[in-house]
Amino acid sequence: MSAPVRVRFAPSPTGYLHVGGARTALFNWLYARHTGGTFVLRIEDTDNARNSQEAVDVILSGLRWLGLDWDEGPLTGDADGPVRGDFGPYFQSRRGEIYRRRAEELKAKGLAYEKDGALFFRMTRDPVTIPDLVVGDVVRPLTDREALDPDWVLIRSDGVPVFHFVNVVDDLEMGITHVIRGEDHLSNTAKHIALFEAFGVEPPRYAHIPLILNLDGSKMSKRDQGASVQSYIDDGYLPEAVINYLSLLGWSSKTATELFTAAEIAPLFDLPDINRSNARFDLKKLEHFHFEHTRRLSPDRFVENGVEALRKAGIETAGFDPAYVRAALLTAQEKGKLFKELPVWTDFYFALDDAVAYEAEAKAKALIPAAVPIVSQLAARFAALPEFTAAALEVSLKGLAAELGMKVGALIPPCRVACTGRLVGPSLYHLLEVLGREKVARRLERARMVSGS
Ligand code: GLU
Repeated sequence: MSAPVRVRFAPSPTGYLHVGGARTALFNWLYARHTGGTFVLRIEDTDNARNSQEAVDVILSGLRWLGLDWDEGPLTGDADGPVRGDFGPYFQSRRGEIYRRRAEELKAKGLAYEKDGALFFRMTRDPVTIPDLVVGDVVRPLTDREALDPDWVLIRSDGVPVFHFVNVVDDLEMGITHVIRGEDHLSNTAKHIALFEAFGVEPPRYAHIPLILNLDGSKMSKRDQGASVQSYIDDGYLPEAVINYLSLLGWSSKTATELFTAAEIAPLFDLPDINRSNARFDLKKLEHFHFEHTRRLSPDRFVENGVEALRKAGIETAGFDPAYVRAALLTAQEKGKLFKELPVWTDFYFALDDAVAYEAEAKAKALIPAAVPIVSQLAARFAALPEFTAAALEVSLKGLAAELGMKVGALIPPCRVACTGRLVGPSLYHLLEVLGREKVARRLERARMVSGS
């Protein structure tokens, strides 16, 4: 039996959570859940100059939004003492004592020495082989400069321990069994392995995952569209869509479907199935996953997200009957739009006093004098319907078109624009049913007057 798996996500607080970082976090989380292991979150914040509480919060809120929960950490809590389960991540900035102790240990072994005020590591002179679960064995020969002097700094002369040192000490102290991280760290790994060996500890197993590139093959930078997890939150993507999409950046499910939730991926996910070649970031594919997951979302969650999206757009639904709000929002679910687009699809339901705002183009096209008889006859028919249902409304509108010798397509725009202000939106008969007899009557009457003037 091998030891229980312990993995970690170890971001540096740079001010935003990059999709590459989110993908690294996800792969670690998936591997922990796959193996029944532990997922540790460690904030690598020894570089004080760049750190801020906001930079940490961006990471924490991004991970929470994605649903990537971590399993341990120091208890936080307030004056009433620690709250169970309410633990923060580990912060390297609070672990200085551990690093000092470990530095002493290396000095005592003769593997670290002071020079020019800094502490240096006596690096091995032999080539280091990195056994990697994704990339295979990588032998890293020393560069010319390293061959001349392979030693490197553990603690700078200002007392700040360097990334390689704290990273390895923490992986060691935290009993990390697998280091799953971006391939950009492969070039650091020889140093890390040598340090583990200096401590007399077997290094963890490494899995370096391919980088995420733009569609054109260029390296993804901070400014590229979709680079920051916050942009998905702001645009109203579903976190399950982002998770699904990220899981396939560098991993293949080998199943017929690619549509999964995180809980469904975890049993399938394993390190040998990670691809070696770089992944390309395709926003269109992510939108497709958003569409599919939105259509599968429970109505309750769709409505909850929808209400929030409307609130962000300044549309308050609190004054309306909850059953009405729910029915209204659900007419937009099958469209699978981003939540930031939802207000445009559903704002008309909440027009105060039924004073629908007409889009200029829609009004110019549909609310013209020729629409007056159509709108008034529709109003009369609708008023006479015993039941105000989508099916009855459809029969009624089509019946009127036939009697007038007009195409159904000629009646729909005036009716739609009268009730919604727009030429596109949710299915017409359904939205009429949801609006209900009175709102539709008022809106048709107003449109009749507007069209005639
Ligand atoms: N703080 C490092 C980074 O953000 C972590 C590297 C690692 O996962 O070992 O890139």
